[in-house]
Amino acid sequence: MNWKTLEQLDLNGKRVLTRVDINVPMNGDLVSDSTRIERIVPTIKKIINAKGIPILISHFGRPNGIKDEKYSLKKLIPCLSEHLDQSVLFTDVDEIEMIVRQSRALKAGDILLLENIRFRSGETSNDPILAKQLAEIGDIYCNDAFSAAHRAHASTEGVAHLLPNCVGCLMETELSNLEKVLSKPRRPFTAVIGGSKVSTKIDLLLNLVKKVDVLVIGGGMANTFLKAKGINIGKSICEISQLDIVEKITNLAIKENCKIILPTDIIVATELKNKTNTKLFDVKECPEQYMILDIGPQTVKEIKQAIKSSKTLIWNGPMGAFEFEPFNEATDQIAKFVSELTIKGDLISVAGGGDTISALSSTKSDKQFSYISTAGGAFLEWVEGKKLPAIEALRH
Ligand code: ADP
Ligand code: MG
Repeated sequence: MNWKTLEQLDLNGKRVLTRVDINVPMNGDLVSDSTRIERIVPTIKKIINAKGIPILISHFGRPNGIKDEKYSLKKLIPCLSEHLDQSVLFTDVDEIEMIVRQSRALKAGDILLLENIRFRSGETSNDPILAKQLAEIGDIYCNDAFSAAHRAHASTEGVAHLLPNCVGCLMETELSNLEKVLSKPRRPFTAVIGGSKVSTKIDLLLNLVKKVDVLVIGGGMANTFLKAKGINIGKSICEISQLDIVEKITNLAIKENCKIILPTDIIVATELKNKTNTKLFDVKECPEQYMILDIGPQTVKEIKQAIKSSKTLIWNGPMGAFEFEPFNEATDQIAKFVSELTIKGDLISVAGGGDTISALSSTKSDKQFSYISTAGGAFLEWVEGKKLPAIEALRH
């Protein structure tokens, strides 16, 4: 890796300014899903064990540079303390000079959490003055917020240049898993891409076509590919404006020797709701008044065959409108198949994306994947082949 890790720096007695992402979902004043907090615990413990003093920075919601109690990180202290098994100090003073003084008074074993960094107007604009001020609060900068790494903000990018820096444990895991898959994949390498729209995943598809041996296209976006081939798709969702892009992707695939798998059979219904009447058709026979809401069993079989002969798999986007039964069927079956092969050691499997994670976790097979990225936008930008500014700032 081209990044320093916590072990490579002497943390003894040092204030370790640590960028985390504890932008957790809330139910009133209570944390409703503490996954993001659980995932940063190893980093904080590692700093404390090395006798460093963690000073945590995070954003929380989008307060747009204005102090707003609704977005105060104070609410997260009970949950943080519970997971860290110790008390957490908090500061919400405005003047950075004052925070610098507070930070210098900290003792080994203390943990300090700063108030929501997005209360400061210079954060999202990556103001160099704010970055310089933040650098005064720490002796070392550690970034453990991969999910915020696609944004060049003062606390993710600006400050990284001003202090000796390193990646945290969570960031290290994300990066090594994504590198393993995208930089030097064991081949054959298959990508399974689904979801509703081609337009949100153009760069992703264009990059993957160059990297993978097989590209599976399912979900609503497959309809646009079918339409481009002159296949009638009834009332299914489709982006007519993307037909040119689809043609470009298809031609690039031929040039790059990448096989594209599209649905050959489809599950259709006249309305999108739970337990509605469904019908199975050959892809060429979609009736006019129906919508394609999942891929059919023949297509699932074909996808499984492709995955079975692969060594690496990357997955983003569900194969059907999985929020409604039974349109979760194909996604569930493929997820189970991927987890079986992963357990056997036959496949390296990485998945990411907001809806993908919820679709996979409902099958419980997500635990068996080699890696599930919770980074959302940053994960997608990485798979698109883009450089993430906060990561670039940490390169050595
Ligand atoms: P992710 O968040 O994992 O990147 P997307 O947001 O791209 O995934 O796609 C998820 C959405 O795609 C889901 O809401 C799902 O219902 C929708 N979807 C998948 N297949 C279809 C389909 N055939 N018709 C309509 N919507 C679909
Ligand atoms: Mg989504």
